[in-house]
Amino acid sequence: MSEDLLLRDFKPKTALVTEDHTPQRAKFPVIDIHNHLGNWDEEWFQGLYNGGGWVIKDVAATVGLMDEMNVRSVNNLDGGWGDQLRENLERYKQPYPDRFTVFAWTDWGEVDLPNFGEKWAKELEKSVRAGAQGMKVFKTLGLNTRDKAGKLIKVDDPRLDPVWAAAGELGIPVLIHSSDPVAFFWPLDETNERWDELHEHPDWHFYGKDCPQFMEPIEAQLRVVARHPKTNFISAHVLSYAENLRWVSAALDKYPNLYVDIGERIGELGRQPYAARAFLTKYADRVLFGTDIPSNRTTYGIYFRCLETMDEYFDYGRSQGRYRIYGLYLPDDVLQKIYYKNACKLVPGLKVE
Ligand SMILES: [Zn+2]
Repeated sequence: MSEDLLLRDFKPKTALVTEDHTPQRAKFPVIDIHNHLGNWDEEWFQGLYNGGGWVIKDVAATVGLMDEMNVRSVNNLDGGWGDQLRENLERYKQPYPDRFTVFAWTDWGEVDLPNFGEKWAKELEKSVRAGAQGMKVFKTLGLNTRDKAGKLIKVDDPRLDPVWAAAGELGIPVLIHSSDPVAFFWPLDETNERWDELHEHPDWHFYGKDCPQFMEPIEAQLRVVARHPKTNFISAHVLSYAENLRWVSAALDKYPNLYVDIGERIGELGRQPYAARAFLTKYADRVLFGTDIPSNRTTYGIYFRCLETMDEYFDYGRSQGRYRIYGLYLPDDVLQKIYYKNACKLVPGLKVE
């Protein structure tokens, strides 16, 4: 036994004797509103999911798993537009119309075109006619995407307004991700709770790079939500600030057309069980279930365990921070809203019989 131990070698085993009530299937039907099933060639995505190409290699097997786990429908946020949208619809929605939905994108990089707003409002309408049931906005808007002059395009750039308005007119929600976990914007030193994760993915670290501060894209997103009260916005990852539920609550109080999904934030919610339970109960009409992870038994098991049970101090399946989580034992009516009722209310054509 050495006297000094490196942090990376420290793998303590808990002495707690606890029970595991991981549900074999969800208590109520589930709609996974935040997922990615697209055909990805980009390197960073290859590293994350199954080596590139279609994220789901065997669609029928995934539907089988969904049946087993009581997942009624998975929303594929990788629709893009034009041919990409058609391919995604053909692969998922056409063979399984009740089991998958697809959201379309806008090409923000074209913002310099004099007719940008009109062109992409029309394109969105075309996408909806083709079968898209919502629009997805990636975090690159507000963090990376630049116009021709090299200037960062802000989320609330007025040139984008016609697209947000079009979504409202078409009656589809906008699922929008702005910014990233707050610790990604902090110095990577001994105080950063996501040290392990950021060492694994140094490209996720924003501190000291030429990009906005943590709050800037989120605040810009909220200005868009305020400007477009007739458009429903589903803000991904608990408005990107699950670490501060009081702040998220204030935003939900202020903007009735604002909703949030819980994708990739089960670790944040489960490590503050009292606050999270109160939050999810109070805002049960405004929160949607999502995972952001291609459907698999382990991930769904962890989410259902956290939302449904009173289990204590368990692993949440990600290496975001060195903590464990607790079950929130949400009441049935809250679970039903978060699992599927809110999604059915927001996404046209989506229903659970
Ligand atoms: Zn995502």
